[in-house]
Amino acid sequence: MHIRTRFAPSPTGFIHLGNLRSALYPWAFARHNKGAFILRIEDTDLERSSQEAVDVIIESMAWLGLDLDEGPIYQMQRIDRYREVIKQMLEAGLAYPCYMSEEELNRLRDVQMVNKEKPRYNGLWRPEEGKALPPIPQGILPVIRFKNPIGGSVTWDDAVKGQIEISNDELDDLVIARPDGTPTYNFCVVVDDLDMKITHVIRGDDHVNNTPRQINIMKALGGITPIYAHLPTVLNDAGEKMSKRNGAMSVRDYQKAGFLPEAILNYLARLGWSHGDAEVFTKEQFIQWFDLESLGRSPAQHNPEKLLWLNHQYIQHSDAIRLAELTKPFAHELGIDTENGPDFVQVVGLMKDRANTLIEIAEATKLFYLPAPNHLPEKIAENIPEAIVPALKDLIKILGNTEATKEAYSAAFKQILTQYQIKMPALAMPVRYALFASTQTPAIDSVLVVLGKDEAIKRLSKVVS
Ligand code: GLU
Repeated sequence: MHIRTRFAPSPTGFIHLGNLRSALYPWAFARHNKGAFILRIEDTDLERSSQEAVDVIIESMAWLGLDLDEGPIYQMQRIDRYREVIKQMLEAGLAYPCYMSEEELNRLRDVQMVNKEKPRYNGLWRPEEGKALPPIPQGILPVIRFKNPIGGSVTWDDAVKGQIEISNDELDDLVIARPDGTPTYNFCVVVDDLDMKITHVIRGDDHVNNTPRQINIMKALGGITPIYAHLPTVLNDAGEKMSKRNGAMSVRDYQKAGFLPEAILNYLARLGWSHGDAEVFTKEQFIQWFDLESLGRSPAQHNPEKLLWLNHQYIQHSDAIRLAELTKPFAHELGIDTENGPDFVQVVGLMKDRANTLIEIAEATKLFYLPAPNHLPEKIAENIPEAIVPALKDLIKILGNTEATKEAYSAAFKQILTQYQIKMPALAMPVRYALFASTQTPAIDSVLVVLGKDEAIKRLSKVVS
C-alpha cells in the first residue's frame, strides 16, 4: 500500500504549538513509510479563514522541516468538484433536497427537547419507497442532506482509541450543501480524503464525532475508508486544554524566543508518542522509529521546562558557526555590533554551553562587545587587592611575549601561580574584573583567546598602572 497522509488545518486564527503535532505525526508516518504527505487548507469558512493564518502554517511547517509532497491544496479551489459530487449523489439517490426551514427545524428541536429526546432532523423530506413527500414550498431554497443509513452501526478500528462503534440511529441526515449550494465541512473532508487517496487520517480527537458521518458518506460513494488515528488533546502545563486564551504559544513565538527548530520538533514528537525512554533524538531517528502503535492514549501535557531543557541540549551540541548565524539577529536586537569586536563565532562557541535559548546566548555575548570598562577606584580597590598587583604586572609581561593560544595563556597563568605561590582564583578573579568589570566569565584562558591579547593587555594595564 502506498501510504498517503495529510495535515488539514482550518486557517481560522491562532495555531499553537500543540496544533502542529497534527502535522508532525502524519508527516513522520508518511516519511517512515516512504509515502506522501499532503497539506490541505480547509478554508471554506470564508469569514474566519485568512491568508495570514495560511502563511503562518506554511512558514511554521517549513521552519520545522515538515516538507510536503503535495499541496498546499485549498478547498476553496475545489468547490466545483464538491458540487459535482453532490450532483452525482442526488442523481444516485444518495442525497436529497430538504425544504425544512430554520424555524421549522427549531420548532422540531424544541419539541424534542421537551420530550427529552436527542434533537435531530426527523427525515421529513427523506424520500422512501411508497412515501409521499410534502409539497415543495415556494421561494425556499433547499439544503441537500445525505441519506444516512438507517439501522446498524458504523465501526472503525481507531489506531489510537481502539474499536469504536456508533449506532446509525445516533446520526441524522447530514446537511452536505447549504441553500446557496456551498458544500459543508464534513462533506468536503470526505471528498478530499477520497480524491487524495488518503490512507491514514491522523488528527485531533476533537474530530472523533465527525468520523462516523464521514465513513458513511465515504461508503455511500464507494470509497475505501482510511485508517483513523485520533490523537488525544494537548493540555497546557496547568492541565487545561491548550489555547491562546491561556497563554499557548505559536511556533513563530518559540522561534522569536530563541528556540531551535530541531528542539521543537523533538519536543513535539514526544508530546503524545514515545520510543522506549528515548528523550533526545534526531529527526532521522524519529522518522525511523515513528509508528502509530506507540501513540499515547491519554492527553499529553505541555511542559515548558522540558522544552527549555531540550533546547539547551540542542544548543550545547550545535555547531558554533550555525549557532552564531542564528544568534546574530537576537544580538543585533540587543544593540550588539557583532561585526566590531571579537569573532562572533568564537564568542558564541564560548558562551553556548550555559544558554537555554538563542536569546540567552546573545545576552551572554554582550560581555565581549561592550566598550572597555571604566573601573571606579573604590571598586578596583575592592576587587584587585594590593598584594596581587605585582603578579598582574608580571602576567602582563609574560602575555606580551606569549603565543596567542589557549594553551600558551594557560601556561602563562600557571607560571605566575607557581612564582607567587597563589591559587587560580586569587589571580583569575582580579583578571576577570580588570577585563570586564565582572567576575562572571567562562574559563579565563578561553576568554583571552576570544578577547585578543592586545585588548586584554590594554585593559589589564589600566588597572595596575
Ligand atoms: N480542518 C480541521 C481542523 O483544523 C481538521 C480536519 C481533519 O483533519 O480532518 O481542525
